Amino acid sequence: MATRKPAAAPETPTRGSAETGRLGVPERERDWQRLGSETFDVVVIGGGVVGVGTALDAATRGLRVALVEARDLASGTSSRSSKLFHGGLRYLEQLEFGLVREALRERELMLTRIAPHLVKPVSFLYPLSHRVWERPYTAAGLLMYDTMGGASSVPGQKHLTRAGALRMFPALKRSALIGGIRYYDAQADDARHTMTVGRTAAHYGAVVRTSTQVTGFLREADRISGVRVRDAEDGRETEVKANAVINCTGVWTDELQRLSGSRGRFRVRASKGVHIVVPRDRIVAESGLILRTEKSVLFVIPWRNHWIVGTTDTDWNLDLAHPAATKGDIDYILDHVNTVLATPLTHDDIEGVYAGLRPLLAGESESTSKLSREHAVARVSPGLVAIAGGKYTTYRVMAADAVDAAGADLTGRLQPSITDKVPLLGADGYYALVNQADQLATRHGLHPYRVRHLLDRYGSLVHEVLAVADGDPDLLRPLPAAPDYLQVEIVYAASHEGALHLEDALTRRTRISIEYPHRGVDCADQVARLMGRVLGWDDARVAREVEVYTARVQAERDSQSEPNDQAADAKRISAPEARDLWDPVS
Ligand SMILES: Cc1cc2nc3c(=O)[nH]c(=O)nc-3n(C[C@H](O)[C@H](O)[C@H](O)COP(=O)(O)OP(=O)(O)OC[C@H]3O[C@@H](n4cnc5c(N)ncnc54)[C@H](O)[C@@H]3O)c2cc1C
Repeated sequence: MATRKPAAAPETPTRGSAETGRLGVPERERDWQRLGSETFDVVVIGGGVVGVGTALDAATRGLRVALVEARDLASGTSSRSSKLFHGGLRYLEQLEFGLVREALRERELMLTRIAPHLVKPVSFLYPLSHRVWERPYTAAGLLMYDTMGGASSVPGQKHLTRAGALRMFPALKRSALIGGIRYYDAQADDARHTMTVGRTAAHYGAVVRTSTQVTGFLREADRISGVRVRDAEDGRETEVKANAVINCTGVWTDELQRLSGSRGRFRVRASKGVHIVVPRDRIVAESGLILRTEKSVLFVIPWRNHWIVGTTDTDWNLDLAHPAATKGDIDYILDHVNTVLATPLTHDDIEGVYAGLRPLLAGESESTSKLSREHAVARVSPGLVAIAGGKYTTYRVMAADAVDAAGADLTGRLQPSITDKVPLLGADGYYALVNQADQLATRHGLHPYRVRHLLDRYGSLVHEVLAVADGDPDLLRPLPAAPDYLQVEIVYAASHEGALHLEDALTRRTRISIEYPHRGVDCADQVARLMGRVLGWDDARVAREVEVYTARVQAERDSQSEPNDQAADAKRISAPEARDLWDPVS
């Protein structure tokens, strides 16, 4: 997209940037200078959850760290998941007890210590449809599930008769079940969680820079000694020197591997998963739902005033940045969920659709590269580590493994990982603020429910968010076309959370793109103007941002009426990119 010189100082008040891990315009310029002038212990490629987790792990071990992300934080898979912190019931059936235990431990850590403001318990109904064997079989599995992760802050399983299950989930057909079991997992807004981990890494001194694409690797003799990066906003390039480079690029792992010129130890393939979002009142229920499908499971997950329903699982060999959902994907989800709903969902009920790519390990060649069936980490050549696979829930464990693997290239003693003791920004003080929500609401003239919503998005950083509206109380008004969000949240996204384009604010800092049937188009102009106050946009730039975003939404809608991946991909990639990226295959 059109190049832009970094704007001067933002209008919003600042506290020390390191204090809150602020990712604003001044920090962006400062970090560019740091990238070009310092020698880092570790450079992390990729700002998905694994990359930001790795940057946080390394920074809190006392290492000098830089993370570079080509697009936006969480713009790849990490904003497009089912948003569950879970052990994975189906892994229990596959007898992967170690994996389930590890994931459940992570779920508990997130809920209680690391991110209680962002990660919340969520209940699911497991409907039973077979008499005699199914209840004891499922109960035994859930008993393990409830106890394997150690202390659990969520309630254990509860058995329900058919009448009880229907009271919990009145939207189900009576004939769809003979009884049920309720169990608990946890959920989070994945994009906000990833961004918060990234800000926490910045708080501990890491350079965290988006719109900064790796376009090549530096070499000294036979070892990788850094990366070449290009600023996707203004085309500047620089070289970043490092003792170790960690490739955390998910489905782009092989692409970066090729760019480095070294032979990979494992390969990553992409599997597409689609979700639809429907209004809360279209499914009358007090809990989520898990359904078995021929291949895997389908979830109905409560999401504020909506339900998220998904997912699919099909191979994807087309554009990695913009996986497209087809009509076939959406029909698959509707067909499966409608087998149990008394009033079927239709295409007209759909508010939003999103597709993501699972980075799955393929063709592992060396058992030493394999730390678990779930993820693989390997020192692919001196100075270069790659990590991939796994799942969102276990990002912290993956990050620690990646930094351990980089240890061979670091000078000095590598401290052990301590991120199990590092709360994310906003966690500290969160519980007290929940108790004080009414006072906070009165002080700022907001409804208490609004303050609780803000606390679940920002935790104790809520003070910083609300301070942006000091002297401009209009910012505490909701966006008229997306009233779940306050205008100040958009300004804050640009001033503190690293949002550089309209799509960053509409699809990741907020979820307007999937929560409103207009998918963000009706508030695009207002949101661009609010961002433009911080980012120094003139009318032409605002218009261009709106045009690019609107074209993206139209391309997504068009792809969703196509029957197959090729046709859907052709529609989706016809839309212009918000960022000016370099194509490694050209
Ligand atoms: C449909 C679906 C549902 C899922 N549900 C769950 C769930 O409920 N729970 C769970 O635990 N897991 C779930 N997962 C898995 C989980 O989402 C992923 O494992 C995780 O998000 C992967 O994170 P990542 O950091 O490896 O990759 P990504 O988030 O894709 O990050 C890679 C980043 O690298 C960047 N990059 C690429 N090339 C370059 C370059 N040249 N220079 C700089 N940066 C570059 C990309 O822009 C991208 O941001 C789900 C996955 C899918 C697809």
